[in-house]
Amino acid sequence: MTSGSMFIGGAWRPSSSGETYETINPATEEPSATVAKGDERDIDLAVAAARGAFDRGPWPRMTAAERGRIVWKLGDLITQNLDEMARLESLCTGKTMFDSGKVEIPFAAEVFRYYAGWATKIHGETLLLRENAFTLTLRQPVGVVGAIVPWNFPFLLSSWKIAPALAAGNTVVLKPASLTPLTALKFAELCQEAGLPEGVFNVVTGPGGRAGMALVRDSRVDKIAFTGSTAVGKEIMREGAGTLKRLSLELGGKSPNIVFADADMDAAVKGALTGIFYNKGEVCAAGSRLFVEEKIHDALMAQLTEKVKGLKVGDPMDRATRMGPVVSRQQMETVLGYIEAGKREGARLVAGGGRANVGGGKGYFVEPTIFDGVTNTMKIAREEIFGPVLSVIPFKSIEDGLAQGNDTSYGLAAAVWTRDVAKALKAARAIRAGTVWVNAYNLFDAALPFGGFKESGFGREMGSVGLDHYTEVKTVWVDLG
Ligand code: NAD
Repeated sequence: MTSGSMFIGGAWRPSSSGETYETINPATEEPSATVAKGDERDIDLAVAAARGAFDRGPWPRMTAAERGRIVWKLGDLITQNLDEMARLESLCTGKTMFDSGKVEIPFAAEVFRYYAGWATKIHGETLLLRENAFTLTLRQPVGVVGAIVPWNFPFLLSSWKIAPALAAGNTVVLKPASLTPLTALKFAELCQEAGLPEGVFNVVTGPGGRAGMALVRDSRVDKIAFTGSTAVGKEIMREGAGTLKRLSLELGGKSPNIVFADADMDAAVKGALTGIFYNKGEVCAAGSRLFVEEKIHDALMAQLTEKVKGLKVGDPMDRATRMGPVVSRQQMETVLGYIEAGKREGARLVAGGGRANVGGGKGYFVEPTIFDGVTNTMKIAREEIFGPVLSVIPFKSIEDGLAQGNDTSYGLAAAVWTRDVAKALKAARAIRAGTVWVNAYNLFDAALPFGGFKESGFGREMGSVGLDHYTEVKTVWVDLG
């Protein structure tokens, strides 16, 4: 990887404008890397390379087994470069080395290996419908895939798109978030090492409004796989309409984490804390609304407010740290603004509530914050904060808990805590969200689909259905006379 360059058509090159920008380490507020500032012209070159590689190159034409081997090798190379990938991820995002090194980069490697296995298992059907015809379906790659990802899980969310796209024989242009491009660039290096043909994988770094939008508008791009905010998702849908882009949108959330009175209280408290404070709450599926049945409210709050004191906020590179800084000054200000809104609306602040006093005044550290006595109509219960702020909302009955949990424009994830199997299954069926955890939070597997209902988007990533977005179905009818 050369500083200030992007990866297009198998080569490293500066931006067409010659412009660069600096990424900032959110723990120190110091510059961490110089990155090329790509725009429409760079997208034009990257899409031309991806188009050429798809229309004329070896990638979609080689045997599925060969393709699978290269995708598997990418998984292995990620594992071999785990320390560096994790360090680059933590450097840009402020996530702890534990989160990037023990959880997310290993998971991304697993996603590549999972989809490597699928390369040889993508198939259509043969249908015996009539004597005088031979009819079948083919599943062929969609073509050029534009992948646009946010800054909270930069490489992991890229892997959910790149791995199935490559396994199915597509070519890819990746546009990482401007704040967090370093693992995408490192991965491009690994693609060279793995022997991926030129133009099959390209990275254009730069702002979403220009580089991202150019990718969405380009008629040579067949599909956009986007993860990010609901607002930008809607804009992509509008702009993608011009060329009728295939779309999958993984958007925001305001997920309910519902604790019934018969739950294992220790487990529920632990789940409430990881549900909101993992990755400083910068998680699309964060359990940001904690619904607690009234009968156990006081007992649960006593444990929760005690346990939150043990969450060590600090330097993400320090292995003892459990919560690093939020990603940027702008994000910190947004989160602090929501904390003020909570106070103004009359929610009761029971933990945190401001900047954390670490890093000698430097760094975008926010205290793990808990509001009690929140109502589901308050701003902090309705809008995605995307930071370490938990809203606790008491409820009276199973019907009340589920109705309030569903009362949101989002539908990404949810959890319920109960020892009653029937109650758990009723809740799992009633909650309108793409994932429902029972007695757990934030568990993922490459084989299990993830995605949203309602304004959390559409399309699923991971699992066998995750491949559907990267293939087109074709019917072939052979007349036998
Ligand atoms: P964002 O929507 O601002 O940006 C996401 C990506 O889109 C970035 O690469 C950005 O540069 C690009 N972009 C911005 N404007 C664009 C435009 N007009 N055209 C094309 N591309 C554009 O989101 P963010 O602030 O980076 O990330 C946080 C959001 O992502 C939250 O809302 C969060 O819930 C969501 N998210 C969802 C999931 C999921 O799986 N559902 C996962 C993680 C994050």
